[in-house]
Amino acid sequence: MENSEQLHKIRHSLAHIMASAVQKIKPEASFGVGPAIDNGFYYDFLVDENFTEAELKSIEKEMRSIINKKIQFVHETWPIDVAIEYFKSNDQQFKVELLNDLKTKGTTAVADAGDDELAEGSEGGVDEISIYKTGDFVDLCRGPHVDNTSEIPADCFKLNKMSGVYWRGKEENPQMQRIYGLAFETKEKLNDYLQMLVEAEKRDHRKLGQELDLFVFSDMVGPGLPMYTPRGTVIMNQLKEALNEIGRDNNMESVSTPHLAKLDLYKTSGHADKFEDELFRVQSHYKQEFILKPVNCPHHTQIYSSRPRSYKDLPIRYIEQTMQYRDEKPGQIGGLQRTRGFTVDDGHTFCTVDQIQKEADLIAEVIEKFYQNLGLWGDHWVSLSVRDPKTPEAYIGDPDDWQLAEEMLQKVSDDRGLGAKRMEGEAALYGPKLDFMFKDALGRETQLATIQLDFAMPKRFELTYTDKDGSDKSPVMIHRAILGSFERFMMTLIEHFAGAFPLWLAPEQVRVIPVSDKFGEYAKSVHEKLHKLGVRVKLDDDSESLGKRIRNAEKLKVPVIMVVGEKEQESDSVSIRRHGKGDLGSSSLEQAMSMIEDEISNRKL
Ligand SMILES: [Zn+2]
Ligand SMILES: [Zn+2]
Repeated sequence: MENSEQLHKIRHSLAHIMASAVQKIKPEASFGVGPAIDNGFYYDFLVDENFTEAELKSIEKEMRSIINKKIQFVHETWPIDVAIEYFKSNDQQFKVELLNDLKTKGTTAVADAGDDELAEGSEGGVDEISIYKTGDFVDLCRGPHVDNTSEIPADCFKLNKMSGVYWRGKEENPQMQRIYGLAFETKEKLNDYLQMLVEAEKRDHRKLGQELDLFVFSDMVGPGLPMYTPRGTVIMNQLKEALNEIGRDNNMESVSTPHLAKLDLYKTSGHADKFEDELFRVQSHYKQEFILKPVNCPHHTQIYSSRPRSYKDLPIRYIEQTMQYRDEKPGQIGGLQRTRGFTVDDGHTFCTVDQIQKEADLIAEVIEKFYQNLGLWGDHWVSLSVRDPKTPEAYIGDPDDWQLAEEMLQKVSDDRGLGAKRMEGEAALYGPKLDFMFKDALGRETQLATIQLDFAMPKRFELTYTDKDGSDKSPVMIHRAILGSFERFMMTLIEHFAGAFPLWLAPEQVRVIPVSDKFGEYAKSVHEKLHKLGVRVKLDDDSESLGKRIRNAEKLKVPVIMVVGEKEQESDSVSIRRHGKGDLGSSSLEQAMSMIEDEISNRKL
């Protein structure tokens, strides 16, 4: 981490060096802004004709030559009018615009990320401006940069992509070309990152979802509304079954609720305000407005309140796997990461304050087991969001209950060795929570599981239970999800396993392939026996070559391929190929079947 400041300087300096190289190769270019970003840098240019791949290569080459010349980054302070004159005479309209903004408003802050490097933040105008010179290239900038280009390893960067962007992010402005570069401290680190990108691309769930025929989108259905194919649905159903089993084992009760409800329900719950623009509104013919549910909690409160509850009934644990809807901005929708309709494994526990720890602990245990079974436990971290100690009065609910609840969640983390990171001020207004964050193939974090306490919603819906002393009390509500949204979880699974799912999850578990027609009957009998066992099995007795048929199965990442020929037919056996492991030799059919049955029923990895 101590290098991060130097790395930032390198990236920022490379943006200037790239602009300097562009100035030489395309002298007519106008320059926008060029900040350092995660993993590298970019610069925006207005050019008559878009850069070609060949030009990108020459820019890269020119950059290396600038670096090798060991040029000094010269810092100067100019009166702002001198700077305006300078950039005007060089036809740099965007720099002039930025300078005029600084002169009159004291800031250049608009939507574009690159601008804040120039923002001075003062109320009035600015009369002096910070300038950096790199050889012939002069730029407005506050820095910091390397002192000399010799500090930059000439092979630590790579220009990797281009995109069209509007000047300052506004559509009415000219469209510029943005060139992105990747940059790290060393060539090795750059190569590691490039390697990771290649790997991540192979694992990209959108690509694999298509290749393995798991889910589809349709323009006619609409963006952000994924549909699962038969193969994808198998995985969904297996996950649902695993979750239902957890529910049955832990006295969680399944409930079912409709996909819409009156707007009033969400006004009472507070979600009408919270999700405002994300609500899908449905107009009934009978002058009633309905909302496609953005969450399930309000529905569940209505099941709770449908009959009187006593302290003896608590805890009550409802679970439901159902779809929720949010009208996400079209620009933010992509693959399964963010969708407009998504299936949640939702659950709500209603309990007393005293029961919080035990209930939260039960959910944490279930979460740990579930992720352990999938080999995902370990690649995660947990956060404990608590109140801001400076403003305890800003939160809904009794401060004593809050105190106790925070202590209980901390205890759950301590007892289970979750090592939850305490995040002060991150709690929702209505209660503290534990979130479980997992990394995807690109190293990005995704929140999947959560345990969230809620003191407010039971009060909003006037939920009560009769306590031992006969008085009415308000239960605590715990919102929890084990896998979060099935869509996001599916994305995580696809990328984690690179599409090679464990046997119990695989859409097709076994493919039986006879080496030739002669053994078709025996292959059929093997297929039949596996099918009767409940295995998802297919027979491929096509006329294509054996090699081709094996490759076809490999392409779909079928975990077990059974090849049968004369030897196998005679000894009532099969020859087994496991995906990723190759040829495992032959085994008796009976043995193979019990191995498969064991692996599936125990959900082995
Ligand atoms: Zn700079
Ligand atoms: Zn909820």
